[in-house]
Amino acid sequence: MTEPILLRARGLKNSRSLVTYRKLGGYKALEKTLKMAPGDVIEEVKASGVRGRGGAGFPAGVKWGFVPRDSTKPKYMICNADESEPGTFKDRELILVDPHMVLEGIAIASYAIGANTAYIYIRGEFVEEAKILTKAIGEAKRKKYLGKKIFGSEYDLEVYVHRGAGAYICGEETALIESIEGKRGLPRLKPPFPAVVGLFGCPTVVNNVETLACVPHILERGGAWFAGIGTERSTGPKLFCVSGHVERPGVYEAPLGITFREIIEEFCGGMRGGTKLKAFIPGGSSAPVMPADKIDTAADFESVAQAGSMLGSGGLIVMNETVDMVWALENLLLFYAHESCGQCTPCREGSDWAVDIVRRIRRGGGRPGDIETLHRIARFASQGMTICPLGDAFCGPIASFLEHFGHEFEEAISRASSVISNALPILPVQSDRELFGI
Ligand code: SF4
Repeated sequence: MTEPILLRARGLKNSRSLVTYRKLGGYKALEKTLKMAPGDVIEEVKASGVRGRGGAGFPAGVKWGFVPRDSTKPKYMICNADESEPGTFKDRELILVDPHMVLEGIAIASYAIGANTAYIYIRGEFVEEAKILTKAIGEAKRKKYLGKKIFGSEYDLEVYVHRGAGAYICGEETALIESIEGKRGLPRLKPPFPAVVGLFGCPTVVNNVETLACVPHILERGGAWFAGIGTERSTGPKLFCVSGHVERPGVYEAPLGITFREIIEEFCGGMRGGTKLKAFIPGGSSAPVMPADKIDTAADFESVAQAGSMLGSGGLIVMNETVDMVWALENLLLFYAHESCGQCTPCREGSDWAVDIVRRIRRGGGRPGDIETLHRIARFASQGMTICPLGDAFCGPIASFLEHFGHEFEEAISRASSVISNALPILPVQSDRELFGI
């Protein structure tokens, strides 16, 4: 990609300030939008083909179109900034670099769906980012780009920053809504979907930070322009946040459809210390792991799905030959077991049991039958057996680690069998406090 779009302000002095944003043409798209009919704004976003950048990849314009325009209830717009999936740190970058771009996207989306109130739900740990957004809202309100009679029109919009309290599950849109309502963040059964029954029982759209950051560009340059970037069904620019064994981890922007090899070799300077790639997780920790021979897969929604994983958030976790895959899976599962809200038995019990089994294997206490039990847990807790996608989120890694690196688990178990036959004790499990280093 020659022209950065989402990260165009990175590196500029005072990139977060309203003055800088205006110099880059900021808020012009909002001014233009306010002269359009809301339905036309939705059509333009549909034409762009932009799909949710939070993980699900659902078309944003279609989601906006689900809001019943004839409803007499208030409508709400929510920007999901609860970025907490391991390996994902791109929304944070957008807020740090260009908060007004996110705010402009929120304002355009709110106008399109008929909302006069918007919330930015931001994870509690993002203290600095919450301050940056609050300051940016103040700047925009003083210039009448937000607040009452925006750009002299009849349209009003209040935007509030709502800080979460550190639960990963609040990134799930219905848990997030519960949390804003002041309740414990437990996912709701769907349907009804938030577009019809959302915040305070009213029609609500929840969009990810990066999705909303795309919106001003779509309105300014047209849906067709956006649809011309990327691939036919995965359109536009995308942020890829890369962590792990590469020379230059970080957040990079590229059109959807770039290959993982290009991201690792061209943007990240290759594998750290010239080591060999063993595996990578393409879309945040809940995406199934891919072996090194899939490195030429195109990073778009369809190609990654065809290769057996998912693009998810674009959080690319790179692992080299030194990584013990039993340890890596245990590490991932610990996170999901800790973050399960506990409502569904397959998720609550399955994630804990999976951690116990994988941890026992890693510590030399693996038993014949453990792999089959892990497969059963993965089958039992996925495929619509739970209220929210967290069930699938921990089952995808189990199934894929066993599919591609099952031999490492088998070797660990067979090593253990000989140790056990020599009557060595199995190590005791650690407490949560020890495991999480608290
Ligand atoms: Fe809670 Fe897990 Fe059920 Fe989601 S799948 S509602 S996190 S128990």
